[in-house]
Amino acid sequence: MSTPPALRWPLPKPSFGVTGQPVACPECDARERLLIGLDLDDHSEDPSHMACPDGHRWLEPGMPRRIGAQLLADTLDADPSLYGWLDELRDVHGG
Ligand SMILES: [Zn+2]
Repeated sequence: MSTPPALRWPLPKPSFGVTGQPVACPECDARERLLIGLDLDDHSEDPSHMACPDGHRWLEPGMPRRIGAQLLADTLDADPSLYGWLDELRDVHGG
């Protein structure tokens, strides 16, 4: 049950996970400009794929995938024109 994330999306600001702990890169402790792997269809409690600006990748238990899916759904609700950009964003942030 591990499909690659559909999209990597920058977290808007330093974020706290569901545990109340700040989300930070386990290797370099980066807390800003983190990317979260998003999949609109994945509402599971599995940890999200994360990446920091230095390219470290990890699975973040404080960010269940349902949060990423909700974040993307909210973003698209707020600006439906982003649908037209998804393919391009996938090229930029995919991996
Ligand atoms: Zn890092």
